[in-house]
Amino acid sequence: MTVAAVERKAIVNRLLDAEQERFKALHPRSAAAWQDGKQHFLYGGPSHWMRRWAGGFPVYADEADGAHIRDIDGRDYIDFCLGDTGGMCGHAPEAVTEAATRQLKRGTTMMLPTEDSLWVGAELSRRFGPKYWTLTTSATDANRAAIRISRMITGRRKVLVFSGCYHGGVEEAHVEIRDGRVALRNMIHPNGVDHDAVSRVIEFNDVAALEAALAHGDVACVLTEPLMTNFGMIPVDPGFHRALRDLTRRVGAILIIDETHTLSCGPGGYTAASGLEPDIFVAGKAIAGGIPAGIFGLSQKIAERLWTIVPHVNPRERQSAHLGFGGTLAGNALTVATMRAVLEQVLTPTNYEHMIATATQLASAARGLIEASDLPWHVTQVGARAEIMFMPQPPRSGADVIAGRQPDLETLLHAFYMNEGILVTPFHTMFLMCPATSAQDVDRHTAVFARFIDLLRQAGA
Ligand code: PMP
Repeated sequence: MTVAAVERKAIVNRLLDAEQERFKALHPRSAAAWQDGKQHFLYGGPSHWMRRWAGGFPVYADEADGAHIRDIDGRDYIDFCLGDTGGMCGHAPEAVTEAATRQLKRGTTMMLPTEDSLWVGAELSRRFGPKYWTLTTSATDANRAAIRISRMITGRRKVLVFSGCYHGGVEEAHVEIRDGRVALRNMIHPNGVDHDAVSRVIEFNDVAALEAALAHGDVACVLTEPLMTNFGMIPVDPGFHRALRDLTRRVGAILIIDETHTLSCGPGGYTAASGLEPDIFVAGKAIAGGIPAGIFGLSQKIAERLWTIVPHVNPRERQSAHLGFGGTLAGNALTVATMRAVLEQVLTPTNYEHMIATATQLASAARGLIEASDLPWHVTQVGARAEIMFMPQPPRSGADVIAGRQPDLETLLHAFYMNEGILVTPFHTMFLMCPATSAQDVDRHTAVFARFIDLLRQAGA
């Protein structure tokens, strides 16, 4: 590291110490609650993800409404994290609350279909394309099922993923390329799995690597987001999807498109917006308005191949037709009711127009500030989602992110944001809009981001 870089790092560290002190002073009740939480929760909170906030501990939520959250210290936040996408419909949207309340009084889970599911199935096909759907309790679960089906119908073992990906707690996707070698993402524990045997990992947007990785003929499926949203936003190169579709078809590998985050691109996700042709389409998180849910949909051809292996059941012949995935609560009446409300009344074309316009406003204002201060940063926006990255150009791959990102500056910005009443996902600086996010919310972000730039300038960072 150069002397200037060491000095800069020390300044950023000093600023972060100050922001974390300020955070503690502003959040006495959350600080105390966090200490209490450690008494009975393995990692302090009900989910281990809740320990990742840059202030040093999470704020405890009191109440959330639309694009805002109020914490137990009485502070208000504009929520651009939105539960890392699970809250993309906004908090407590009326249509979802009404549908959930109605269904709660009529039974939540019976292992029986309800008539709402008929509407939901037809709507999923209309929006996203695939013909045959299954509901799960999470996107993780949907991905696991999609992988299992891919292996069943291809008889192959390997799952091909892109370095920097995240697809939930999916063992095969816990890999990345680091220092030119295959490694476990984020130093995650290998869990007794031979990742070399079950996974293959290459860089995103690399058609030559894709062709080589598929040439072995042992890849059951490629699992990918349409553009990457979990390692900073990594836009997709023009032509990459065409190549991906052609190459997977040529070698008989199943193409799984995971739209769990990219549902933010429009009513039919990136798939409908760009005419992708997945064999299996996966989504989750926001699809039932914050009630746990995932979905996966199979094309006609893939469904027919599956049915030859596991045919439809005749209940009179009590043969086993166990598919090895899915949970008892999957497709329950409550989830189906809220999914219907989301698709019918919340994630509508009109609301998407507003969300995308709001993201455009945020991105162009942030770009303006970056340009005015001549900073080596950039902003990416796709649909209702935007990201500020502390590197000059959008990355093309996970390798670019590893080489270019400045994690200490990201942590400082996140702590500063929280002290100034703004939440973004703790993992990188990504902003998501919901139907209730307003132009005033965005203006407030622009003012806070301008103050952050001033803070760095004044500190000489
Ligand atoms: N797929 C993608 C693309 C995701 O970003 C995530 C979560 N961040 C998941 C799947 C897993 O979702 P869940 O944690 O709700 O199972």
